[in-house]
Amino acid sequence: MTTESISRELDTWFRWAREIRSWAFLHPEGEAGESWGGHVASAAERIGLGRDGYRQLFETAQMREFIESLDATDVPSDLNRKDSTYFVITTKCNNGIAFRNDDDEIEHKTCGHCLNGSGPNGVSMTFEDIDRTVANLPHLIREIEISGGEVLHPEALPLTLHTIRRCRERFGRDLLLSIQTNGDFFRNRDHTKRLVGELRDAGLRRIVVASMDIYHGRGNTDEEKFEERKRHYARVAENLRQEGVRFVGSSDFQSLSDDPKVLTAHFFGADIQDRFSGFIVDDLVPNARAVRAGLVSEMDHGVKYCRNHAGARGFLGSDTDDQVAINGGAVYPCCWFTEFPLGDARAIPIPKLLMSYIADPLALAQHLGDPHRAWEIASLIDESLSEELREIIDGQRELNECVGCRNVTTEYANLMRRRGYALYERLWRDIPVMWNHRTDPEHDLQLNSWVAPSARASA
Ligand code: SF4
Ligand code: SF4
Repeated sequence: MTTESISRELDTWFRWAREIRSWAFLHPEGEAGESWGGHVASAAERIGLGRDGYRQLFETAQMREFIESLDATDVPSDLNRKDSTYFVITTKCNNGIAFRNDDDEIEHKTCGHCLNGSGPNGVSMTFEDIDRTVANLPHLIREIEISGGEVLHPEALPLTLHTIRRCRERFGRDLLLSIQTNGDFFRNRDHTKRLVGELRDAGLRRIVVASMDIYHGRGNTDEEKFEERKRHYARVAENLRQEGVRFVGSSDFQSLSDDPKVLTAHFFGADIQDRFSGFIVDDLVPNARAVRAGLVSEMDHGVKYCRNHAGARGFLGSDTDDQVAINGGAVYPCCWFTEFPLGDARAIPIPKLLMSYIADPLALAQHLGDPHRAWEIASLIDESLSEELREIIDGQRELNECVGCRNVTTEYANLMRRRGYALYERLWRDIPVMWNHRTDPEHDLQLNSWVAPSARASA
């Protein structure tokens, strides 16, 4: 490839990325009755590539000169942005559900539904990891949600304050910077005063208390857990109000006050029965721990998570709901974890990482909110590739969408490498991660003691 042809290909690549941004937002379902292959072909036509344009784009991406030139080129500033980032910095957690065992002794167990496998022996990123990751975030970002684990756990708090300061230094006062917490460290009046002071001084704008569900509730029955959560809410909310924290509801939780000292809060939880009306309620996701604890089945089809706020839809860039999740530095298209991360935010700028994926059929299908339709996009590249991928996907249809998608990612990566596509030496790779949906350090040993509300209800 000559220098001129490389710069032409790069230009096409960035035009494609722009098309993806507006297209996902404007046409999330594709045109009525149109396959996603047809939808992608139309997108290619809109930027002047013609019917075969997507295949050409994909094939260009396999050329080593092109890969090297993409590495060496800055991502244009209009593509170097993201609406929000879910940033998990620790799996250290105090929780901590107390209940009476058969011998009438009080025991403490970590939450059975925890997405990241967090608990008292969890691990944290280093301060250097945080610095590198924050430096590699996109230039423009509206919201960063710092999460755990329990970010206010005394062993995690210095790292949390450091992360808040780093984000504030890099993005200034207009960033909606929040922490997600179980609220336990706001139960004590004096401690709340100290904590809120430290968080405010560091530059925090939002406290999200994510424990309004019976999975976090203390008690022996679902009713006791429910009542305990209501008391938890009343106590934490009152302590925060005393410190001047303002509450925002589901209608205005995206808003941000002009006054940088204004700290806001909202509460949510994971509750399959919507018991906590008035709060934002998430559904349980079949991550490995929740499945092992019997809270949800891998066959549970429930909500289509990929199209929800924390799902993958829009992750390659769109005008709304454009989010990626970072777990200990590893970047995922969603909060629910794909089998392999997209890459490592400690080592590579996130916009550049996402740029490598913009012509990948599976990433495009996730970006549109349905990984099971990746074969339709692959049909534009090669019919036999599409057939092989379809077989892989069909083999997972009995499973929950996210569980099936994780399995597909592994087989898909093998398939693309087997076919010799050069870019896949780096896409969908098994890189070392600090934690993922399978991670469940020492707590596996205690699984038999977990109390599954659904199992108890039917007993
Ligand atoms: S669900 Fe939340 S409170 Fe429970 S162990 Fe996980 S991080 Fe901690
Ligand atoms: S289906 Fe896959 S990409 Fe989509 S939210 Fe679930 S795990 Fe993430």
